[in-house]
Amino acid sequence: MKNEPQDHPYGKSVAKLIDEFAKLPGIGRKSAERLSNYIVSCSPAEANELADAIREVKASVKRCSVCFNLTEEPICRICRDPRRDQHVICVVEQPKDVVALESSGAFSGLYHVLGGRIAPLEGVGPEDLTISQLVHRIRKLGITELVMATNPTLEGDGTSLYITNLLQNDPVRITRLARGIASGSVLEFANREMLADALRGRQQF
Ligand SMILES: [Zn+2]
Repeated sequence: MKNEPQDHPYGKSVAKLIDEFAKLPGIGRKSAERLSNYIVSCSPAEANELADAIREVKASVKRCSVCFNLTEEPICRICRDPRRDQHVICVVEQPKDVVALESSGAFSGLYHVLGGRIAPLEGVGPEDLTISQLVHRIRKLGITELVMATNPTLEGDGTSLYITNLLQNDPVRITRLARGIASGSVLEFANREMLADALRGRQQF
């Protein structure tokens, strides 16, 4: 049951807070009420710290100008790291996929975050993603291997195929993660060992 803001016995601002918490992923109405009760009863300093942390993250976290991963600096830590293999780029859909693959510890190259996948039914075309920037990077930097790590879904595969076709005349080897990850599952939920295996066992696209 959805409460209208004016319905809450404590008043509108509490109702509004519950509504906001309930929008967060994985938070149902009951959890939203618990969180709201906590905020209502904690000290003003504590509540402000949370509000400030949210404000700060929104003001300081931006997209890396090279790979489009999230970062608080103009160029992210991975792109700036000279120890990483500068000739291999792993292509992912979202910044959270970078986090998942980094936790596997099995990849030492660079990343490129597409910002989604081609999804015609949702009106997402290649021009809505960072595909042209990726092609530019590959040609400018002499990238020798592209590891496709889009999600193993119909749309993720379609996006990889689209990019592969764009690059068919470029001297870059295109591989994709081995299918240790069950088809249709999502990268961010795969465990570390699965991702490490998928990276080591990558195959020619
Ligand atoms: Zn970067």
